[in-house]
Amino acid sequence: MKILIVEDEVKTGDYLRQGLTEAGFVVNLARDGLDGLHLALNGEHDLVVLDVMLPTLDGWAVLQTLRRNGRAMPVLFLTARDQVDDRVRGLELGADDYLVKPFAFAELLARVRTLLRRGRSHEPEILRSSNLELDLLRRRVSRCGQRIDLTAKEFALLELLLRRKGEVLPRSLIASQVWDMNFDSDTNVIEVAVRRLRAKVDDPFEPKLIRTVRGMGYVLEAMEPA
Ligand code: CA
Repeated sequence: MKILIVEDEVKTGDYLRQGLTEAGFVVNLARDGLDGLHLALNGEHDLVVLDVMLPTLDGWAVLQTLRRNGRAMPVLFLTARDQVDDRVRGLELGADDYLVKPFAFAELLARVRTLLRRGRSHEPEILRSSNLELDLLRRRVSRCGQRIDLTAKEFALLELLLRRKGEVLPRSLIASQVWDMNFDSDTNVIEVAVRRLRAKVDDPFEPKLIRTVRGMGYVLEAMEPA
């Protein structure tokens, strides 16, 4: 998860960057509005923490331009003034939440996490395990950032395994979900398909993710995204 902070106060900016980095996020920091807007338009951030009072371009203008350009990532506003006007204006312009300075870092972190959970449903869905990625919207699979071409059936099979990663999927279930076949159909089709899928997504890479569970079926190991 990648977060952009746009904050001109050096101490606050550094403090937020350090805290969010320690919380496991990838963090970019911009010190003024124009730089922040540029980064927000060109980098792929999952969330923006945006100060209102900024040099070169204020937070309102940054937010407005982002939304006009179709950027829908959640934006958490930081305002120094505890005024209803500011909050209303921010929310009207498309901010998702705001915090009044000074705030406790723990509160900011809680808001960030809530927004990211909420925001995820609008974003292109990507299924992951370890260094394997399947992008549902673009219909793309990659491993270690390397693009892998799959047939439609292989894609469907991998999608099923990834959606239910960590679960042993019986051949009968795979047959019905991916091939629309009956329980008692010839499951050799599945073995062949799994072998082909493995040759593409597992054999050239580490760690091995697709495992055969004898007499039961197949499981794709659930691992933390790399
Ligand atoms: Ca400021």
